[in-house]
Amino acid sequence: MRDSKKVNIIGGGVAGLAAGIYGRLNGFEVTVFEMGKRTGGVCTSWKKAGFKVNGSIHWLIGSAPGIDFYSMWSDLGVLDEIDFYYHDSFIEFKDIDGVEVHFYTDPNKLQQHLLSISPVDSRLIGELIHHIKLLSNANFTMDRAFGLLHAWDWSKVFMDNMPAVVALGKYNNMSVWEFAKKFKSKILRKAFRNFWSPDMSMSFLLLQLSYAANRIGGYPIGGSGKFMDALTKRYLDLGGKLELGQKISKVIVEKNKTVGIQSADSKFHYSDFVVSACDGYSVLFKLLDPGYIDNETLDAYRTLETFPSLVFFSAGLNRTFEDLRSSIIGLNIPFDKKLQVGNFLHERVSFQIYNFDNTISPIGKTLVTAMLDTDFEFWQKLHQKGEKPYREERSHIERELLKTLEKEFPGISKNVDFMDIATPITFENWTGNHNGSYKGWLPTPGSIKTKISSHFENLKGFYMAGHWVATGGGLPPAAYSGREVIRQICASEGINFEHGQ
Ligand SMILES: Cc1cc2nc3c(=O)[nH]c(=O)nc-3n(C[C@H](O)[C@H](O)[C@H](O)COP(=O)(O)OP(=O)(O)OC[C@H]3O[C@@H](n4cnc5c(N)ncnc54)[C@H](O)[C@@H]3O)c2cc1C
Repeated sequence: MRDSKKVNIIGGGVAGLAAGIYGRLNGFEVTVFEMGKRTGGVCTSWKKAGFKVNGSIHWLIGSAPGIDFYSMWSDLGVLDEIDFYYHDSFIEFKDIDGVEVHFYTDPNKLQQHLLSISPVDSRLIGELIHHIKLLSNANFTMDRAFGLLHAWDWSKVFMDNMPAVVALGKYNNMSVWEFAKKFKSKILRKAFRNFWSPDMSMSFLLLQLSYAANRIGGYPIGGSGKFMDALTKRYLDLGGKLELGQKISKVIVEKNKTVGIQSADSKFHYSDFVVSACDGYSVLFKLLDPGYIDNETLDAYRTLETFPSLVFFSAGLNRTFEDLRSSIIGLNIPFDKKLQVGNFLHERVSFQIYNFDNTISPIGKTLVTAMLDTDFEFWQKLHQKGEKPYREERSHIERELLKTLEKEFPGISKNVDFMDIATPITFENWTGNHNGSYKGWLPTPGSIKTKISSHFENLKGFYMAGHWVATGGGLPPAAYSGREVIRQICASEGINFEHGQ
């Protein structure tokens, strides 16, 4: 091992630890500085009343062979440590105008089901299924940073996947809602609009459906906490150093080259390379002099839409749900009356009912969670008004969610061990992410065409990883970006990049 060159990493989330692991595999002396008391960032679990609340992962793309991310998770040490559960459905819609819509992961089953709801939409349903299958058969290389692909690599990717590339080109510019509006059936229009954010690019949704069809994204039994423990163990076993409770306040630059970082206690930590794997806004506008940042990146930070923040509901229920079909997103139920969450109005909500993981709830009990998009400003203002109004608003949302569950599962209100709400304020305090965003940039038709730099020409030794450099966010892009900065550092040093396998 070459322990001569030092890499300091800001942030001990998935991206920071992935960079740390690949840094160690390639012989660098690595220290991860994490402001929190434990690793994980937004990918975390916490204990409450005997439950282990899963605060993030619904599914991990690349948990099974069939996509390049699989070898990455293997290098990162999570596959040997964790069992994965594969759902047969993506999302289960209850009562859309009296009809149940099941988004089966099997495209043939999905086609039959959607046709049974709306035979008049057979052409559009056929087009949808055709593209899910087309993308499931594509093989887009993800074994290298895009910046390191040569023109002939790109042409090979295009040539090998021409029909899928054409399809993605067509759907990149279409939002999910624009696609949904083409259905004659009001039920299918509503189902697609409520699937995820209707502003997302349709190509993003198609890719997710193709991953589900290939069964390459499983839920890690034990939840996000178990996943992060495995990642952290791999990093420490490889000899990586971890400094917890160390908030970094500055990236130190001399003559256009980073020489280290400074922590909030004013200590200087020397290194040859600095990898920022934390909130992009903080790094570019607080920790660094913006003079180093190229105009394209500055524009992106000023104009692109971020994932909204969340109200994250969790409840421990003293009952089981044996016969309920599980799905990646969960059971989507309508509210009796639309629910106002900050400045967002919700018609429906998805409850994830963890009847498929008995390791995170006490025997005979079940964890239930729900995510509701909301805006940061509303919660910030409310929080500033004081603890009482902030608490009352959270209690109001808890009551409304319980009422909705009660309608679906009569008597459930008597089975509540605990209920809790995390807000955008919690997300921002816990992870530092801008306005409490939980995934960075929203993959809209506009944003997926925008290149977000992870390295700046006039700033040597500085690299960025994490969901702020990977539009669409999520664990695989975060980890992949961590791996790729190490590959770029190796390239800059003339070292052959090594995988763990
Ligand atoms: C409810 C929920 C569900 C999700 N579901 C999925 C899913 O099913 N599948 C999927 O792939 N993804 C999912 N995600 C998204 C995924 O968890 C994130 O995209 C990913 O974990 C981001 O990792 P990261 O390392 O880029 O960023 P972060 O997790 O934000 O990590 C950044 C780290 O940097 C630290 N930090 C910040 N500032 C500083 C500083 N100044 N000094 C030192 N440390 C600092 C933070 O404390 C944090 O630990 C979900 C997220 C949420 C919240």
